[in-house]
Amino acid sequence: MMSPDKHNPAESLETLDWGPAVESAEEARSWIEKSGTQPAHFIGGEWSAPTAAKRFSSRCPATGEVLRDVLQGSSDDVDRAVQAARTALPTWQAMGPDGRARCLYAIARNIQKESRLFAVVESLDNGKPIRETRDLDIPLVVRHFYHHAGSAQLLDETDPGAEPWGVCGQIIPWNFPLLMLAWKIAPALACGNTVVLKPAEWTSLSALLFAETCQKSGLPDGVINIVTGDGETGAAIVSHPDIDKVAFTGSTEVGRIIREATAGSGKGLTLELGGKSPYIIFEDSDIDSAVEGLVDAIWFNQGQVCCAGSRMLVQESISDEVHRKVEERMSRLRVGNPLDKAIDIGAMVEEKHRDQVAAMCERAKGEGITCIQPPIDLPEQGYWFPPTLFREAPLSSEIASQEVFGPVLVSTTFRTPQEAVKIANHSRYGLAASIWSQDIDTALDVARKVEAGTVWVNGTNMFDASSGFGGMKESGFGREGGREGLRAYLRDVKPMTPTDGDTSATGGIVNSTSTDPALDRTAKLYIGGKQVRPDGGYCFEVQSPAGELLGLAARSNRKDVRNAVEASHRSKWGSMTGHARAQVMWFIAENLEPRSDDLAQLIDQMTGCGAEAAQKEVQQSVARWIWWASWADKHDGAVHDTPWRGLVLAVHEPFGTAGLICPQQNPLLGLVALCAPLLATGNRVIAIPSTAALAAVEMCRIIEHSDLPAGALNLLTGDAAEIGPVLAGHDDVDLLWHVSDEPLARKLEAASAGNMKVCWRPGELSDRSRRMLDRGTQVKNIWLPHGI
Ligand code: NDP
Repeated sequence: MMSPDKHNPAESLETLDWGPAVESAEEARSWIEKSGTQPAHFIGGEWSAPTAAKRFSSRCPATGEVLRDVLQGSSDDVDRAVQAARTALPTWQAMGPDGRARCLYAIARNIQKESRLFAVVESLDNGKPIRETRDLDIPLVVRHFYHHAGSAQLLDETDPGAEPWGVCGQIIPWNFPLLMLAWKIAPALACGNTVVLKPAEWTSLSALLFAETCQKSGLPDGVINIVTGDGETGAAIVSHPDIDKVAFTGSTEVGRIIREATAGSGKGLTLELGGKSPYIIFEDSDIDSAVEGLVDAIWFNQGQVCCAGSRMLVQESISDEVHRKVEERMSRLRVGNPLDKAIDIGAMVEEKHRDQVAAMCERAKGEGITCIQPPIDLPEQGYWFPPTLFREAPLSSEIASQEVFGPVLVSTTFRTPQEAVKIANHSRYGLAASIWSQDIDTALDVARKVEAGTVWVNGTNMFDASSGFGGMKESGFGREGGREGLRAYLRDVKPMTPTDGDTSATGGIVNSTSTDPALDRTAKLYIGGKQVRPDGGYCFEVQSPAGELLGLAARSNRKDVRNAVEASHRSKWGSMTGHARAQVMWFIAENLEPRSDDLAQLIDQMTGCGAEAAQKEVQQSVARWIWWASWADKHDGAVHDTPWRGLVLAVHEPFGTAGLICPQQNPLLGLVALCAPLLATGNRVIAIPSTAALAAVEMCRIIEHSDLPAGALNLLTGDAAEIGPVLAGHDDVDLLWHVSDEPLARKLEAASAGNMKVCWRPGELSDRSRRMLDRGTQVKNIWLPHGI
């Protein structure tokens, strides 16, 4: 595109084009030069530069020039940083909520005072337009520190008795360097943790500038430690034995490696991963606004945004009009110097990344998919990529299904809202979605059905510290921001082990060798609302503590796991109202109570706990059904107060199908105490009970005659060490609660990495707190901007 003569006002009025309005980089460059004279990590409140340290260069993506060198952190550097963070913990915690709030407030104020410097450093180092760093990244960073100063102050009120994890290892990507840092550091500090953070190799500078802010803000030495480096430095943080919690934002591939590396370690873990978010335009939308929103959804930050609206779904009746308008708008996007305030699209972060995006686009063209790229002049120096649209890309094509992480949009059409939901959910990711419709019924109905952690109605890319952000499915787990984001930095309950409990059950599986004709009644599995024989036809003996044979239980295998998962997916439990779920659970208690004596006798025989203890266990189990039934219609979400004109509805949703590995002890209560809260929150459950399985099987026989829909609860008796990992590895299981010893926990959590399912180890059977419901729930934030 030819630029008009900038000195000719008449021509400028004709084209309505802008002249350059370049932000001064003088101050930022002088800071970069000064800070780069001796590259260092920030450890224990000091700048630390080991003499033999390797270095790498941080470049300006808009020109390719080297800005300054940065140190490659070694495992020794990580170790020193972790030690400094550990040493700082008592001082930091002794400062209490008030002291910590003041430090966070000071950080917010100091960043605000230097916001222009931060914005320019970020644009120089990352290549993103100053318009974005100045108007979005830095103000949001400041907002996060202010908001969490308040959270720190109120912590004793909001979460009484809660403890911080301790030392948090945090690893962030390059696309929002300072913002990702703020999302992680602000809640960690608010809760009283100390931090070792590694910025991304390509964009370390704003984190180093932030370290200077910490020095100015009265933060005690060692509370924040910044170690620069690449993926190896990140891996050293993840595997460090003295790190209590790992928080990671980055690709799903690296997230999976981290899940496997931390499996069974007991470290806290939150993963914010990739996305391929749908941008759905209905025929009754305000089309011009939807097109303008799309510019923001996919071309903001060169499309290098985890929640980029990279899949445009347009209703067929308006497809031509929308595509015409999108193409027209694309041709007017300005690509160039990120420091120019009138630029829409800046530079791609690195040459290597730009080449990967280009290669993906070439492959899509090779598949014959129509590619639209406006003839925009790109600067000769630096790493650039034009706005790109692949029209009508087949859903299974690489370009339509894989994250590109560049300014590349794919489009497809749909006819009905049902079809839109189906296409939207046809993805391994579930990070965000935008829905454009002026019809509130359509918008909210689709918002509830789309599988995404954040849904924007008639908008896009809205974020705030008060509202959690994070994914479902392979987009990871945990939220950043909001109450749930804060709680992710509070220590989890100490996990119970399989043998914790009041009544001792005989452990282990004893294969049945008995041929006694009196024992022909083998306890069955309970799958899809029916008693079924195990696929393999094997069973095991349930014995008394004295070794006396009490009965046979079915021994499930891999095929039984698959059958149970399929049955659970057919169940309508998740779509029932909380009220209806409560009624069913009350009814289970009602049916169970008259059978107390039989159940207690079985428990006593299996565990030898005595009649009284056995009766108590049954009574507690009945009470637990009632307790969680009472909660089923009360675990509401929230409406958040954000500095936007609109509402953010934080809606509680079940995960879907939950795997449950019960403790060995308390063979009835161990099942009920854990499966009832999962059911109350609308999850379908596949439970592996204690090997003292007869009481659990008996309860399912009773449940068969209550109103629990088929597939809502499935019981797989057998060896948890054998079938647990199969359940944990199943891609259609969305959540796993497990009571396991460390070797089994390691196997289960490593197996869960396949679909990045959430794993949790419950604390104790007496836990009747809201935590149990929170752990069975994922929060979907639906943004509803409104007003004129
Ligand atoms: P990567 O996963 O490659 O890297 C993220 C961070 O992890 C970087 O600091 C990286 O170091 C580090 N790292 C790399 N390998 C390891 C390892 N084995 N162990 C520990 N740390 C490691 O992602 P990108 O930097 O390429 O970022 C882009 C990705 O991040 C996209 O997929 C995007 O969707 C996702 N993302 C998700 C967000 C969300 O909130 N859900 C937000 C922003 C991005 P280094 O880069 O220095 O080598």
